[in-house]
Amino acid sequence: MSNEIIFTITDLKQFIYCPRIFYYHACLPSIRPVTYKMERGIQAHESERVKAARRSLDMYDLPLGERHFDVPVYSPRLGLSGQIDEVIATENSLIPVDYKLARQAGDHFKVQLAAYAMMLEDLHAVHVSHGFLYLIAKRKAEKITISAKLRDQVNTALVQMRHIAEKESMPAATIWRQRCADCEFRRFCNDV
Ligand code: SF4
Repeated sequence: MSNEIIFTITDLKQFIYCPRIFYYHACLPSIRPVTYKMERGIQAHESERVKAARRSLDMYDLPLGERHFDVPVYSPRLGLSGQIDEVIATENSLIPVDYKLARQAGDHFKVQLAAYAMMLEDLHAVHVSHGFLYLIAKRKAEKITISAKLRDQVNTALVQMRHIAEKESMPAATIWRQRCADCEFRRFCNDV
């Protein structure tokens, strides 16, 4: 079974962070500011990619594994596509690694990592039990179990995203109002 609308992993991450940011991108694409924060994120990813190639697998507590960078993934079943910063191929599985500028492995990053794992599973018929969020500022890799709860969050989010995109219906603002303080879409949200 395939889903007609193909979302990107960025759409999913934004939806988990605040559904309304996803709505603005999906339904009002003409208002798409590129902020300093976004530019900085892109630059940090590029330089981290170079540094990551020099790191050993010790950081991930793995004796052996083949490392692949900027790996494209997609799943017609999920209606999702993306590109994984790093995938480590071990004898029995694949391990996605996502590099983050943040100092903490927030929930929206974990859901994103789970989505990567699910796409790898669909593409390669393997079970992906865990992945890593590499926190650039802390130079630390945090191991994340790809739990049933995270998988449910991915599936539920995708159903809700499809509804928003098809009906063009604006969702409620995030309950985490501190996120509105430096949000590039704040001037469009009159109720926060
Ligand atoms: S201002 Fe707040 S509610 Fe509006 S899009 Fe940004 S984070 Fe979401």
